[in-house]
Amino acid sequence: MIIDFHTHSGVSFDKSTFNELQRKMQQMGIERAVIFPSTQESYQKLMQKNVETLDNAGKFFIPFLRFNPKTIKKEEFEALQKGFYGLRLTPRGENFDPLDKSLERIFETIEKTGKPVIIHSRKENNINTDPDRIIELAKMYPKINFVFAHFANDSDIFFSKINELENAYVDTSVVSSPFIIERRVKEITSKKIVFGSDYPFSDQEIELLKVKKAEISEMKKEDIFYGNAKKLLNLQKV
Ligand SMILES: [Zn+2]
Repeated sequence: MIIDFHTHSGVSFDKSTFNELQRKMQQMGIERAVIFPSTQESYQKLMQKNVETLDNAGKFFIPFLRFNPKTIKKEEFEALQKGFYGLRLTPRGENFDPLDKSLERIFETIEKTGKPVIIHSRKENNINTDPDRIIELAKMYPKINFVFAHFANDSDIFFSKINELENAYVDTSVVSSPFIIERRVKEITSKKIVFGSDYPFSDQEIELLKVKKAEISEMKKEDIFYGNAKKLLNLQKV
């Protein structure tokens, strides 16, 4: 059983469709994938892509709502949340500071739903995506489970804090390697890591191999491939 916690729909350079991704997943033995839109266009366009993603979810995809917490309309946020398993934040794409106090209202609403949040995190000359800084978000809202994408840039500072926080996780996409996974599993256990590919920006086969080739026990690989994701997504059966 494998769940991919990080895939994108509607990427402009990519010709693939939901069916094409589904075919690739079947080829790779990936049963289900968390999916969210990858557009940085207008508010309307993003909302349209969210609905399209939801409509195409079928039984393979686990749709997440991508939104700008600064501009989303309250009614729209409440209505749309019902269909989605979780939420996607992109502080660089949507250009906002996730620690901004004015976003409290949004995060308090998320807390009540119990849904996980996957947040883009990289060190890229943008304080709003710096995992060492935005780990404060997990401290501010201890009831929300946060998945820091791209292995939180494999930051030592981030990883020194993650064990103090029950609600902080990382996905394996892009910024990891078999060596990095082995090292961090020793430090923080396998319970804080979920498999993610960042499709189509990376390749599912390559991303899968990084976990498969890590010298860690099969039980720990199961945690990373689906056990932790299943708990975060509150899936009874996958
Ligand atoms: Zn991504």
